[in-house]
Amino acid sequence: MRKIAFTQWHQQATFHNPLHGGQLTAQDIEVRVDPLTGHQSIFNSALEDKVSILFPETDRAYAAERAEETLKTCFLCDGRWKETTPRYPSELIPEGRLVRGEAVLFPNLFPLAAHHAVVMVGDLHYRELKDFPPSLLYDALVASLDFIVRCHAANPEMAFYTINANYLPPAGASVVHPHLQVLGSPQPGTHHRLLLEASRDYAVRNGSNYWLDLVDAEWTEGLRNIAAMGDSRWITAFSPVGVHEVNAIWTRREHFLQWTEDDLRAMAEGLSGLLRGCHEMGCSTFNFSCFSGPLGGSTPEFRCMLRFVNRQNLMPHHRTDDYYFQKLLRNEIIVRRPEVLAELFRRHFDQTV
Ligand SMILES: [Zn+2]
Repeated sequence: MRKIAFTQWHQQATFHNPLHGGQLTAQDIEVRVDPLTGHQSIFNSALEDKVSILFPETDRAYAAERAEETLKTCFLCDGRWKETTPRYPSELIPEGRLVRGEAVLFPNLFPLAAHHAVVMVGDLHYRELKDFPPSLLYDALVASLDFIVRCHAANPEMAFYTINANYLPPAGASVVHPHLQVLGSPQPGTHHRLLLEASRDYAVRNGSNYWLDLVDAEWTEGLRNIAAMGDSRWITAFSPVGVHEVNAIWTRREHFLQWTEDDLRAMAEGLSGLLRGCHEMGCSTFNFSCFSGPLGGSTPEFRCMLRFVNRQNLMPHHRTDDYYFQKLLRNEIIVRRPEVLAELFRRHFDQTV
C-alpha cells in the first residue's frame, strides 16, 4: 500500500462576475495538503496564466538603480569586509574569519543563535539570479560546513544547524550584497522541530523513512521530479510553503557531519540551476533553508533537506507575498503549478550535469 498521500480537494466560490458581464460564475479552488506536515496551499485556476497579478516580474532598471545606489555604502565591497566585519575568538576560528575563494564567513553582528555566521558570496555587490555559478556557491557552502564542523567540535551540545539565505530586501536581506547565513543552536527552531517530529511520527506509523518514500513516490509519479545529482534528489513541492518552492533531499545524509564535498557540490549545482530557472521567470529574490538532523546524533527517520522559495520581485513599492494568508493562517497560494514548474527547472538542471 502506498504510504505517501498527495491529498487534494476542491471548493467553489460563486459570484456575479463583472469581468464576464455580471454573469453568475463559479471559480474552482484546489486545496493541496503536504503529506508530512499537513501544510495547505491553494490554486485558483482562474489565475492560471495571470501570474503577473500576484507576482509581477522584476523591474530590471529599478534593480540596477538600487544596486548602484547601495554599492556606495556596502560594508563588504572592495575588501572593506577586512576592516568592518566582526571576528570569531581564536578558540573557535584561529583566523577570525573563514576565507574560501571569494567566500568569507564572519560572525553576524546581531546574532539570532549562539552560532550565527554570515557568508559573503563573492566580491560582486549585485548579481542577477543567472549569475550565481556553482563554483562560487560551492566555496560559500564549503566555508559554511567548515564552520559547522568547528562549532560542533568546540560545542557538541549545539547540535541543530541550518544553512540559509535571504537575497535582496523583498526576501528580508538588509544588505544587497549576496550572502548566506548559518545558524547553530542547542534546540531546533519551530519548523526544524516540526520536520524532525513529523518524520519520527511517520516512521513509527509506517515503519519507513518519509523522505525516502517521498523520493520513491515522486520518481514513480514523475510529475514533480526535477533531477538527481549525486546523493541529492530535487523536486518541486506538492503543497508549497512559498512561491515556486523546490526541495532537495540528501538520501543518505541524516546530518551535516556526514556530508562530503560531493554533497556540497550537488547543492551548489542544484541551487545554480534553480536560480537560472528563476531568472528565466523574471525572478530576482529568494530564500532557502537547508535542515540537518542533530549533529552526531542518530535520526534514521530523517534526511537532510532543503526548502527553496522565491519572494516578491524587486520593484518600487513591491507588495509582500507574505500576508495574513501565509503569516497567520499559515497557508500558501500556488502561483505556478508545481508540475509545470518542474518541467521548467528540468531544462536548467540538464545544463549542470
Ligand atoms: Zn557590496
